[in-house]
Amino acid sequence: MSIDSIKQLAQAYAPETVQVRRHIHANPELSFEEHNTAAYVKQELATYGIEAESMANTGLVALIKGKNPEKKTIALRADLDALPIVEANEVAYKSKNEGVMHACGHDVHTASVLGTARILQELRKEFEGTVKLVFQPGEEKFPGGASLMIKEGVLQNPAPASMIGQHVFPMLPAGKVGFRSGMYMASADEIYITVKGKGGHAAMPEMNIDPVLIASHLIVALQQIVSRHASPKVPTVLSFGKVEAKGATNVIPNEVKLEGTFRTMNEVWRKEAHQKIKQLAEGLCASMGGSCDIDIKFGYPFLQNDPAVTSIARKAAEAYLGTENVVDLDLWMGAEDFAYYTQQVPACFYRLGTRNEERGITSGVHTPTFDIDEAALETGIGLMAWVALQELEG
Ligand SMILES: [Zn+2]
Ligand SMILES: [Zn+2]
Repeated sequence: MSIDSIKQLAQAYAPETVQVRRHIHANPELSFEEHNTAAYVKQELATYGIEAESMANTGLVALIKGKNPEKKTIALRADLDALPIVEANEVAYKSKNEGVMHACGHDVHTASVLGTARILQELRKEFEGTVKLVFQPGEEKFPGGASLMIKEGVLQNPAPASMIGQHVFPMLPAGKVGFRSGMYMASADEIYITVKGKGGHAAMPEMNIDPVLIASHLIVALQQIVSRHASPKVPTVLSFGKVEAKGATNVIPNEVKLEGTFRTMNEVWRKEAHQKIKQLAEGLCASMGGSCDIDIKFGYPFLQNDPAVTSIARKAAEAYLGTENVVDLDLWMGAEDFAYYTQQVPACFYRLGTRNEERGITSGVHTPTFDIDEAALETGIGLMAWVALQELEG
């Protein structure tokens, strides 16, 4: 099968993919509430002759069987959910669901996998193997739809040999894509600490155990975890974005609450770091006469792109778009639940450029003005189809 035949199909289906994206964009639903979106996707797939099954409540899974379908299976993933953001774009396809917005491009991902599915379904007599389509709920909300889909068996019957995910990237112009082999995105855990002391009149510190002072030392001391315990070769971030002491100018409170995030790119170090954070917090608070409750909630794991799968996908992209349109991605300390799949199956998560400087399409994801250059959709569907076929052959 030639690249040109894929490009022709991508061009032919691009206008309808734009309409599909606009429909999903105008009708966003929050994480784990994607009932109408899932019904719409299921119905779209049916019009292409693809039967989908529900999974994880609002998720869907479907198969496109080529010749010799047992030979190899690869999976393509899209996410269905939107964010609790009021859309500020004045566009024909503006969100009709006030306060909910596809501000992370999951409308684009869903429309792209649908367009890709249409191309592959048309070509199914020309390739060997099976393409599994995964439409998952709840990427934006813990515990992540990916973890639920895995629990419900999305990686079995048939088990994919590799998995591909595509995500919008507003820093990269439409028409370009980005890849990174190996570690790419961070794990993200939430830290909740309550520092306990003994409150009282601020003029009589000798009568109190000041949790504000203890918490201040603790925030500084915990940075040692990053600077002295983390290997310089493993990216690590510890940030406290919320500090709450409900005292007054003349009142020392009983307790101070700290909330933060811990991010890294190594699962062994991640667990070690949790222990070190707990030990240091408990020890430091005790040494200053106080105590603390500490709770670290595991979020998504770190995202690792398999070198072999990524190499095939990248070479496919270079052939499809030209080497000048394929860039290296930097490490990214954001988190993404596609990481759950990458812990189970060799996978590649790549970025689809959606920026258009001239038209002022530059806003970041998770902002009220996020939008895409829809020219990216033609690239998205054709490239993903080509990558899927190369992975089936690879
Ligand atoms: Zn997001
Ligand atoms: Zn996203």
